[in-house]
Amino acid sequence: MPEGIEALRLRDPALHPVAEKVLSGVRLETADGLALYATRDLLGLGRLADHANTRRNGDRVFFSANQHINPTNVCVLRNTCTFCSFARMPREGGAYTRSLEEVFHEAEQARGMPTREFHIVGGLHPKLRLSYYTDMLRGLKERHPDVHIKALTAVEIAHLARIERCSERDVLVALKGAGLTSLPGGGAEVFSTAVRATIAERKLTGEEWIRVHRTAHELGIRTNCTMLYGHVETAADRVDHLAMLRALQDETGGFLTYIPLAYHPDHNELGEEMGRIGTATTGYEDLKNVAVARLFLDNVPHVKTHWPMVTPFLSQIALGFGCDDVEGTVVYERVYHEAGAHTQMHMPYLELVRLIRGAGKRPVERDSLYRAVREEFDDPPPEPTFRRGAGLPVVHAA
Ligand code: SF4
Repeated sequence: MPEGIEALRLRDPALHPVAEKVLSGVRLETADGLALYATRDLLGLGRLADHANTRRNGDRVFFSANQHINPTNVCVLRNTCTFCSFARMPREGGAYTRSLEEVFHEAEQARGMPTREFHIVGGLHPKLRLSYYTDMLRGLKERHPDVHIKALTAVEIAHLARIERCSERDVLVALKGAGLTSLPGGGAEVFSTAVRATIAERKLTGEEWIRVHRTAHELGIRTNCTMLYGHVETAADRVDHLAMLRALQDETGGFLTYIPLAYHPDHNELGEEMGRIGTATTGYEDLKNVAVARLFLDNVPHVKTHWPMVTPFLSQIALGFGCDDVEGTVVYERVYHEAGAHTQMHMPYLELVRLIRGAGKRPVERDSLYRAVREEFDDPPPEPTFRRGAGLPVVHAA
């Protein structure tokens, strides 16, 4: 038995063989992933994931000073992504499409803040051309040359390629030329064909999502990856999804971070069908998804907790369950708030520092490519300013 397994104090005997593999650096297989999802020993699982994370990242926890921008919520898949609360039909109440000047105006928030990244995602608009996005990226770079741009999910890239009748590679090359730094990881949902047929039947397939990311990696564009959990998927679907991500990472090494995304059921068709309101997942499930990912995705450098979805409180606990990265300052969170998230939209910079230190970890501000840009901070305020149920309007993007 490898040294240190006793220190994990595992209560579930089924975790022992998996822990032995983790401590010995042996890759987990599908059966191991299923055992991790099946266990009721959440704390044992968390200690194992924390061990794997600490071995890789020490006590450092990354965060970014970022600003989310959603240029449009108009989406041609509005009626077929049944889990989505963000999208609107063009003439539907609440539909919006921002002009470039409006996007630039919103981005001006960055001037008064230590912003280092714009995170730009939105719906699949039937008429917005590739030039709208390349002009947007160029305009943002002219105005904010030091801010990285992480923009457009694989779904949006594939949509633009269809509109322009060109390849996804052509779209990525154009965006990179206009200032794109990296791609966000949205749109992956769960790759299972059966699950997609239920929750996103017209969205690009899992294989197509992987293809876009592979192309991005070949072009030197780093990307993130995600999984939307807590709806109709099974544990086997989750493990298969993680295995597909891991296989691409073996091939390209292009993923920076994995982000487990908790499904929110308010204001969407799937939530109505499931009879769920509020949150579909529990804290137990949220923490388990973080820990399993850290253990199974042995080749993805970082695992991020997304506080707008699971609350800053749970994100702080997730830092002891395998996470080494926290969603950033955000400023305007619209996707999950449309789906019933009651968290605040903006996390003050020093609150992130406080949150990370409070978990016994060392905060490191990073840029989009996970290069450390700041590790010394003023003392954060003694009391938290983030609030439960802050009542601000709330968002999921493509
Ligand atoms: S999840 Fe994305 S692609 Fe699907 S309807 Fe919502 S915005 Fe559109």
